[in-house]
Amino acid sequence: MLAAVAYQPGPPSVFKIEEASFPEIKPDEIILKVGACGVSYRDVVERNGTYRRDVSFPSIMGIEIAGTVAVIGDQISRFSIGDRVCTKAFSSCGQCRYCRTGRETTCRQRRVVRGGYAEYVAVAEDAAVLLPDQIPFESACVLGPGAGVALNAVRDTAHVEIGETVLVTGATGGVGVPAVQLARHAGATVYAVTRSEDKRQALLDIGAHHVIVQRNGENYGKSLRAELGGEGVDVVIDTVGSRAFQAAFDALAPHGRYCFVGELTGEEININPARIFFKRAALLGVGSVSRVQLEDTVALATQGIIQPQIAKVLPLTRIAEAHRLVESASEMGRIVVKPDTEYAQGETE
Ligand SMILES: [Zn+2]
Repeated sequence: MLAAVAYQPGPPSVFKIEEASFPEIKPDEIILKVGACGVSYRDVVERNGTYRRDVSFPSIMGIEIAGTVAVIGDQISRFSIGDRVCTKAFSSCGQCRYCRTGRETTCRQRRVVRGGYAEYVAVAEDAAVLLPDQIPFESACVLGPGAGVALNAVRDTAHVEIGETVLVTGATGGVGVPAVQLARHAGATVYAVTRSEDKRQALLDIGAHHVIVQRNGENYGKSLRAELGGEGVDVVIDTVGSRAFQAAFDALAPHGRYCFVGELTGEEININPARIFFKRAALLGVGSVSRVQLEDTVALATQGIIQPQIAKVLPLTRIAEAHRLVESASEMGRIVVKPDTEYAQGETE
């Protein structure tokens, strides 16, 4: 089978398109014929050597996978050959203390899903979810790491309610877009933060009530609080991290919930603890997506409540170009690659 292989960390040109051996299968795994694979910033930092957890080289990367079940392991009961599925980033054991208490994303026996930059990939059954026919692979592959995490943040961590105000940082990103869509659907008034004036209309189009264009890291917190009658927003869904923190925390209302979903730069944040207790703020970490959350995400996408934004679909042989596009962050929406044989079957760019 054809695959994009990286033999060491490096620039986008590090990928070699070559013949690789067909994946081996364990009893609790399925082999997917890859329909599409999302290319995320996480892939970029794996490729350039910044992100090292569970990474070794040579590597067939790609963790956002959708495809058709081609082979099933001896223990598989949930899937049959021919089923369409999408994946989450990890499988969980289902048996440990975390898994048994609805906290499977913390499972210590979790296994990474990886290998979507190829024609076939073996994944643990636990990491896969059935997909209805009407969701194309190029939308489905990004549901878990994007919309699934947003669902975890908006519904299950922040518990957003009707009539609340929600601020989403990095609103044009892979988690930001579905967070805006879900917060609006939940009955909240949504403030979307972006650095680019060019993306204002697109954010209004996906459901934001108000767009804040944050130029040069300016602190919009006080002015937003003033606009909201001196209080602030009930919930922050922060997909950016340290660089977004000061303004977003300033914008938070008393008893507000601040959800940390992403960290793009690795910088520290400084805060006087008194600011946290004066606000009675709740600081909440959002971790990944569970299988049930991904199933719910697929259902919401089927109803059109979540609409993944796909900027570009490229054949796998142009993986270097896909990585350059993700690095440049020039597009709103996700970059997706498909094996060239799949791509040739009538896909448009
Ligand atoms: Zn477990």
